[in-house]
Amino acid sequence: MDIKQIDKQYIANTYARFNVCLTGGKGSVITDDTGKEYIDLGTGIAVNSFGIGDDIWKEAVISQLDKIQHTSNLYYSEPCALLAQKLCEKTGMKKVFFSNSGAEANECAIKTARKYGADNKGAEYYTIITLKNSFHGRTITTLSATGQDVFHQHFTPMTDGFVHATPNDFEELQTLVKTHKCCGVFMELVQGEGGVTALDKEYVTAVAKLCEEENMLLMIDEVQTGNGRTGALYAYMRYGVKPDVVTTAKGLGGGLPIGATMLGEKVQDLFTPGLNGTTFGGNPVCAAGALSVIERMDETLLQAVREKSEYIFTELQNTKGVKSVSGMGLMIGVETEKDATQIVNECMEKGVLVIKAKHKVRLLPALNIPFEQLKKAIAILKEVIEQ
Ligand SMILES: *Cc1c(COP(=O)(O)O)cnc(C)c1O
Repeated sequence: MDIKQIDKQYIANTYARFNVCLTGGKGSVITDDTGKEYIDLGTGIAVNSFGIGDDIWKEAVISQLDKIQHTSNLYYSEPCALLAQKLCEKTGMKKVFFSNSGAEANECAIKTARKYGADNKGAEYYTIITLKNSFHGRTITTLSATGQDVFHQHFTPMTDGFVHATPNDFEELQTLVKTHKCCGVFMELVQGEGGVTALDKEYVTAVAKLCEEENMLLMIDEVQTGNGRTGALYAYMRYGVKPDVVTTAKGLGGGLPIGATMLGEKVQDLFTPGLNGTTFGGNPVCAAGALSVIERMDETLLQAVREKSEYIFTELQNTKGVKSVSGMGLMIGVETEKDATQIVNECMEKGVLVIKAKHKVRLLPALNIPFEQLKKAIAILKEVIEQ
């Protein structure tokens, strides 16, 4: 039996996989089991920040692997302490809780908001406002936070304590704050799975101000937007707001699983021993990889991300068959006249990997993709869109 058949027989049927088995590569070039090469504009859904087998990242991971691969959180360990320090120094956040995924990072944010509400406003202040069309994860509670009914089907009852507001409708959010006992607002600044759409700056500023006035936590889900993806270290920096909680995962580990919940001043002392925990979270190998990723997020790299972004926007906005281009940095959604699934398949055929977000083609290239490869891939994408 070949791998595809074995997978079909033994892996739970939750994924509609493409008919391709990826086996290796280097940087932004991926190879499959037939030896075919692809330019990668998907990075395993914004995970491989520096592409495949990046030398600096590999060196950080392997040298940690040579020391100790796991300690548990019963002991001190260097990589996760240094990573937390680096994240706080670069963001101004105060403390970090490490986990293994975006959903777990978000669970911790939700716990933070609930305890903050109970401690500061009363136990009945547990409602968290999230946005319609959002995506926050696959656990029952992060699904409950997710403002898309389609994800809730089959798994009810959902966790209590979430209301979903229409993005960019500040009046509606104000009303929800009046009619519910709220402890926080939790949102993506660029909705990723929802179709790569960025929130309006005025809206985000107004929400931040309201959170301050109402003593609610402003919590930003940067699982996808974080770690350089939008052309800033974190997307909130492009909006000029100061969140109380920031969650991230995907690109942080550069290809290894790690989640982080960053806690600001208001909540830095909220947790005490025993209130949250994880066996794998902050794993030394993942943390060492993440530290090397974050250390490289300097202004030169972020500037290059913004330049490549501008290139893609300009190219695609001037392409016949493109209805709209949305997103920020190297997180881009392309609405096309042609069916997005067809575009993804034809691109794959021609050696370019792109993915989808709702009805859009989604681009999430490596932050360090060489310009020549990017140009070649975008030319192929344009050709497929125009045909
Ligand atoms: C992917 C994603 C998640 C879930 O992350 P997992 O690591 O799959 O649990 C949560 N929020 C956002 C915004 C995401 O893009």
